[in-house]
Amino acid sequence: MKKALIKRAAAVLASAALLPSAVTAYADTPVLMGDINGDGKVNISDAVLLGAYIHGRTQFTPEQFAQADINNDDSADSLDLAAMKFIVIANLGRMPGGTWIASDDAAARYFYFNGGEGTEDGDCFTFDYGDTSEEARVSWLNSKAFNIIWSDGRLETMRYYGDKPINYDDLLTGQWTGSGTVNRVYDIKGVNGSYLDTDTNRSTSFMYEKNGNDLYFRSGAEDDATHAVINPVDSFHIDLTWDDGTSERLTKHDIKQINGITYVNGILIANKTYDLPSTYNPGGILPEAQAAFNEMKAAAARDGLNLWICSGFRSYNYQRDLYNSYVNRDGKAKADTYSARPGHSEHQTGLAMDINMAGDAFNNTREAKWLAEHCDEYGFILRYPQGKQDITGYKYESWHVRYLGKPLAAEVTDSGLTLEEFLCIDSVYKY
Ligand SMILES: [Zn+2]
Repeated sequence: MKKALIKRAAAVLASAALLPSAVTAYADTPVLMGDINGDGKVNISDAVLLGAYIHGRTQFTPEQFAQADINNDDSADSLDLAAMKFIVIANLGRMPGGTWIASDDAAARYFYFNGGEGTEDGDCFTFDYGDTSEEARVSWLNSKAFNIIWSDGRLETMRYYGDKPINYDDLLTGQWTGSGTVNRVYDIKGVNGSYLDTDTNRSTSFMYEKNGNDLYFRSGAEDDATHAVINPVDSFHIDLTWDDGTSERLTKHDIKQINGITYVNGILIANKTYDLPSTYNPGGILPEAQAAFNEMKAAAARDGLNLWICSGFRSYNYQRDLYNSYVNRDGKAKADTYSARPGHSEHQTGLAMDINMAGDAFNNTREAKWLAEHCDEYGFILRYPQGKQDITGYKYESWHVRYLGKPLAAEVTDSGLTLEEFLCIDSVYKY
């Protein structure tokens, strides 16, 4: 196939599924903005036509008018001619350099171009992906955006992200709950994102760039950037301090249901909000949690204390019978303060255990004090601390621990928060 041009731009395709590698002709590709004569290019011929129209020497069809009205103000005039001149000049030999993001934020695709050169015909480029390459037609919208028509005919708008390749370790992909002077829910896919202001129900889209501990959020117009300094707190929290001096804490908040089991940031959760299906039955305390308990028991023994598990795994059916017996004895309202409804007991997870004695007589014993002071060193947290009944849904239990693994147990303990607060979830029966 014969084409005027082409120098190669090395393009690194940074993510996502692409694209037929076959290079096809441009016979029925969509037209670019400004392509008045419909030849698949925006060049000086189109500018001549627009000039003739402005001076009343020619008429446009509706299709031509739509192409000529580049700034979309229902008029084809000298402003459009100025915009077209920019496109024509930019299309002459300008290759994209740096990192660009496809406008389709669901796809979240990023391209890093090492730079390159076009030729006089300047709007057709070849992109190399290592073992495949593809021709595409580029038309500049402004210095920070261009349209591109891929060889399969799809048109995408690419927006400038920055000079450097994206560092994937920096991406904050996922859902975050933001709390500060405003309450927001962030949904971030790669470097594209949006946040919903939960008080006004207004959604704002943004792109962001991370440079060390500095974050630049851009929304709307290209140069409309706000800036925040990042202070990482722990695995699931970062603090942002915005340019206007306000600060905001982001809590990672990815909730997934897999086979009826709820995972928050990958942590299996059973509380009053989130229940386990009756079919979830690990058959006992999970091996990792048991090994951690054994290590903790040995350490307590060196301090002259004896720890044992007085209640570990409880099946759905066992919990159902236990809860019903408490309801019969004390009534439902009271039973709900100390016993979980079936499916809602953390004991069904295989990750929770009661130590020595499940009752207030355990409070303030030497064993209870040792447990509170040291259990996080072995990967456990005290799950229902004193004074947090409104948050956890349970009264203080000095004997009930939950296995989280050492790093996370230490983070939760250091935060002084309950697991519900740490993960920004609640624990309230919905029925
Ligand atoms: Zn318990």
